[in-house]
This record gives sequence, structure tokens and C-alpha cells, in this order.
Amino acid sequence: MALYGPDQWIKLLFDNLTGERFAVPEKIDGYRYYQSLSKTNRPRLRSYTLREFRPLQDEFDVDFVLHSGSNCASLWALEAAVGDQIYIRCHCAGSNRARAGFVWSPPKQVKQLLLVADETALPAALSIIDSLSKQSEKPLINAYFCVPNASDCLLSTTWPQLHIHWLVRDDKNTTELNTQMLAALDSLVLPISALKQHSQQSLDTTDKLWQLANSDTEDIFYAWVAGERAMVEGLRRLLLTTKQIDKKLISFMAYWRRGRAAQ
Ligand SMILES: Cc1cc2nc3c(=O)[nH]c(=O)nc-3n(C[C@H](O)[C@H](O)[C@H](O)COP(=O)(O)OP(=O)(O)OC[C@H]3O[C@@H](n4cnc5c(N)ncnc54)[C@H](O)[C@@H]3O)c2cc1C
Repeated sequence: MALYGPDQWIKLLFDNLTGERFAVPEKIDGYRYYQSLSKTNRPRLRSYTLREFRPLQDEFDVDFVLHSGSNCASLWALEAAVGDQIYIRCHCAGSNRARAGFVWSPPKQVKQLLLVADETALPAALSIIDSLSKQSEKPLINAYFCVPNASDCLLSTTWPQLHIHWLVRDDKNTTELNTQMLAALDSLVLPISALKQHSQQSLDTTDKLWQLANSDTEDIFYAWVAGERAMVEGLRRLLLTTKQIDKKLISFMAYWRRGRAAQ
């Protein structure tokens, strides 16, 4: 297993729709076995971020959001005990880096960054910040993190150009919070070069909402937005149409969708 990018994800394999646990028969290739199963017999796959990877110790960390609803990942995490086993699908050392399950890929000259995340994308955003903290020349970062409680405001590093704006939900409803997030971002000052100068940008509706940046090395601004689909959709509208940021500089990723189980 290898780490290629700070927001790299893995897939965790849970029980299937009939409640059976996944177990690969001995001496059989795990992925081939997985593919040989019918849809109902396949384990349910969920994406999680490698918050930290320690290859020398054969260890990695995953931060789980515990949420209500009929779900497999959150329930598993609630009941997990030391010694429990789970299958994971990950990228091997020597994999094709371009397809290694991460998005973060800022231009080399980047000077200003925008990060937006809810609690499910916070592990990835914090890993990104940790990786940037190791650079000698640190960029200016504006980060907007929306979390359930004040105790979720977890940050292990800081520097003068790192501006974190925490939006704590407490008992506010999500519409109110999305409005607050949009208002906070509306006052963000952006470099002129990040703005689309001429034609209007189209906002194609995509069910999956996974739209990736395509910046080049000369760009100095880069943005990464991930979280619940409605939040990401609202921000996409604000950042691309109202703020007129060039869409080649931003990645928008719906990490989950309220009311719908992950596929
Ligand atoms: C690339 C990527 C990386 C991710 N990394 C992480 C991570 O590091 N940590 C993490 O916790 N999540 C992460 N997620 C999100 C996680 O995969 C989803 O939240 C997933 O749906 C959880 O699976 P589940 O089995 O618990 O719920 P599901 O069976 O998928 O859904 C059941 C119900 O719960 C709701 N639900 C799902 N997630 C939430 C939530 N967070 N809050 C409230 N309701 C919810 C659904 O809308 C649905 O109604 C990531 C997603 C992606 C795409």
C-alpha cells in the first residue's frame, strides 16, 4: 500500500445487503473474488480517507463520522473493538499514480489556496494542511470547515497565513448553515488571475457531482471543496457564477448525499 496524495482515499468493505460478512477464500485473489460475486452478495464499499499512513509500522488512521440512519460504515465504527478485522481496497506501491485515488494537485506556483470541507471531508482537508505545513514556503490558505460541535474543531498545526473559519452547526439546521457558509465565502478576496475574465461558465448538472480542477503550473490560485452534495452544489454555484472563479482552478467533490446511501 502506498500514499500518493494527502487526500487519498481507500475503500472499506462491509457486510453485504443480506448481512453476510465478506471473507476471501484462502489462496484466491481478493479483488477477483469480489468481482465474481453477484451485486447482492458483494460487500458494501464505502470511501474513507487515509488521515495518516505509517508504512513502517503497518498502520494507518481513519476518522469516522458517526451518524444516525441505517448504514454499514458508521455502525461498524460504533461497535468496532481492538482485534476486529476488515478488508480494505487500496492503492499498491507501484500503482499508476494518475489513478491512485486522490484529487489534491495544486499548480507548482500556487500562492493562495481555498479549502472547504464538512466533517466527512475534514480528515482529507487536515491531511492537506499537514502536508503543506512541511513546505518551506507556505501558501496563503483560507479554509472553511463546517462541523457538528465545537469539539470537532481539530487542528494540529498553524502558521500566520493559515486562516481557518470554523462553522459549528450545534442545533442549527443545514439550510441555515449553508447560508452562513455562502455568506462567509462571499467576502473572500481572490487574486484577479483566478477570475474568469470573459464568457459565462456553464453549470452542467451532474448527479455524482465530482468535478475536478484542471489547472496548469502558471496558476497561483487553487481550490478544493468537498462535503455533502447540497453544500457542494451551493458552493459551486457561488464560486463559479457569483464569484466568477475559473472552473479549471477548483475541484468540487460530493463525498456523500443526505438521504441516500453510498453506492
Ligand atoms: C473520497 C471520499 C472520502 C471520504 N472520507 C471520509 C472520512 O475520512 N470519514 C468519514 O466519516 N466519511 C468519509 N467519506 C464519506 C463516507 O464515505 C459517507 O459518509 C458514507 O456514506 C458513510 O457510509 P455509511 O455506511 O455510514 O452510510 P450510508 O449507508 O452510505 O448512508 C446511510 C444514510 O446515512 C446518511 N449519511 C451518510 N453519511 C452521513 C454523514 N456523514 N452524516 C449524516 N448522515 C450521513 C446517508 O445520507 C443515508 O441516508 C468519504 C467519502 C468520499 C467519497
